[in-house]
Amino acid sequence: MLFEEAASFYEKLEGVSSRLEMIDILTEMFKKSTKDDIKETIYMTQGILAPPFYGIEIGMAEKMVAQAIEVSYGYSKKEVESNFKKTGDLGNTAEYFSCRSRMKRMSHAKFTLKEVFMQMQKIANTSGAGSQDAKVRMLSQLFAASTQLEARYIARFAIGALRLGAGDATILEALSKAYTGTREYKSELENAYNICSDLGSVGYVLLSEGKKGIENFKVSLFSPIRPALAERVATSEEILEKMHGICAVESKYDGFRAQVHMDRKHKRVEIFSRRLENTTKMFPELCEAALKEVDAEEAIFEGEAIVYNQVSDEFLPFQETIQRKRKHGIEEKSRELPLTIFSFDIMYLDGKDLLNKPYIERRKMLENIIGKNGTISISDMAVVDSAKKLDMYFNDAISRGLEGVVAKDLNSSYVAGARKFSWIKLKRSYKGELSDTLDLVIVGYYLGKGQRTNFKFGGLLCATYNDSKDVFETVTRIGTGFSEKQMKVFEDLLNRIKGKKNARVVSVVEPDFWVEPKYVVTVKADEITRSPMHTCGAEGEGTGYALRFPRLVSDGIRDDKSAEDATTSKEVISMYKMQKKGKMSDKL
Ligand code: ATP
Repeated sequence: MLFEEAASFYEKLEGVSSRLEMIDILTEMFKKSTKDDIKETIYMTQGILAPPFYGIEIGMAEKMVAQAIEVSYGYSKKEVESNFKKTGDLGNTAEYFSCRSRMKRMSHAKFTLKEVFMQMQKIANTSGAGSQDAKVRMLSQLFAASTQLEARYIARFAIGALRLGAGDATILEALSKAYTGTREYKSELENAYNICSDLGSVGYVLLSEGKKGIENFKVSLFSPIRPALAERVATSEEILEKMHGICAVESKYDGFRAQVHMDRKHKRVEIFSRRLENTTKMFPELCEAALKEVDAEEAIFEGEAIVYNQVSDEFLPFQETIQRKRKHGIEEKSRELPLTIFSFDIMYLDGKDLLNKPYIERRKMLENIIGKNGTISISDMAVVDSAKKLDMYFNDAISRGLEGVVAKDLNSSYVAGARKFSWIKLKRSYKGELSDTLDLVIVGYYLGKGQRTNFKFGGLLCATYNDSKDVFETVTRIGTGFSEKQMKVFEDLLNRIKGKKNARVVSVVEPDFWVEPKYVVTVKADEITRSPMHTCGAEGEGTGYALRFPRLVSDGIRDDKSAEDATTSKEVISMYKMQKKGKMSDKL
């Protein structure tokens, strides 16, 4: 596909107001792709050079992209800067100067999407002395030969802000439609995606091997699997009911999730986060321990990493553990706050894909390769056949300082990438308040009012994720409780991503500014109420769900969650029902 064609699809995508229109445009675009460029077409649509677990980011500084604009079109730094100040968007600035170029114009070379992609890859891979100049040079080569519209998207892609707004589910649906003529094949494509977490690979296999390739997708080492997620209910009785009278129960550790891939022969260990970013470098002691302690040649297993003191049997709070997620001072922090992984599942062992084995069999395999008192330990587990026994286990976990428990269906396979009742979490709750926090996506923000007019930030408009419709539905405004420092942080962060309302945001309220649904914050509230002002959980024009007295509990952004990892509208409805049943009372 020519990049010119891709750019006109991007322009159309910018103008849509509904997700269905978005799917139609993407379908047309994917129909133009072949097996030779489908991977690049998909990655470019996502605004990335590779899935996050490869850690390859283009993310050129705005300053460098501005320099490339100056060089390509013969303008001064001052001129480009002043236009950028006006547009607030380097894409529009590149477009502006492209059609007013003072340089002798190269004939438009008509490059393909793949050529642009490869040049961007080359830019990303250039490092070391003189690399900044080289990057600017390479980018200006693209600008000099591009049309105005191409320049717009090249600039945005280069700074990592293409923002076409298409989520994973939307891309999968369009892929299904382009290949089969209907959206029905999406669930098969989703299964493959859940196993490899790489939309480009799914597209490539579909176009090169067809449906057979998709149906035979297998787990492979060092390609992270999308994590299984837990549902929530209010009581042990409900858990036993859902699990048909018997289930496993494990402690719920409040650290961060770690998916460990190990290959003993090549002494290679990699650790992926809940968002499937490659976090290996942050945890040297865990990599070393995996090779030393885990009795397997090759394995993919999963657990919760937490700072734990074996002598006092003490679990440190999440705020302590999270300090280990850092890029600098790693060695020092690893001595100060050493982690333990409490492993709770295994997905692959010595050449065998275990996703479809029942939980209880996977657990036995896990017990065979992981011991009890190491840096890599196994999670606590018991099989219970009554609510009373489950309650006893729960109370014991709470008294040990844990967050609660996760119940697991003994016969269930590993449900990659989905929140299903094969795992159910039960957390400690607090009297009079909503038992659990919500992780909400920021979709808009408000300007400061009254005494705070000097701030260009006064509050947030937050949404839940509706995973069956792949849209974001507003659930609350948060206008109080921000410190001045926090307001400044939000002002800077959100100002960068403000723009047109995303076609996947469903809202009846209008904030002062819409932002790209990107950042997730943790919110606590007193109650969930019905409200016509919000679209969360509303069917058609009906009444939605909203939060009463919402406030932020985290200092800032939950960077371990992407927009699609936010609390779902379905979860809010189930929390509302739990609250209505009056079962939110303290369990202790
Ligand atoms: P939360 O904020 O409650 O941890 P979440 O949205 O991150 O929720 P859920 O799938 O809802 O994720 O809850 C399960 C999470 O609990 C897992 O992501 C995992 O990180 C953590 N966890 C801790 N202990 C266990 C365990 N024994 N089994 C499964 N998950 C566990």
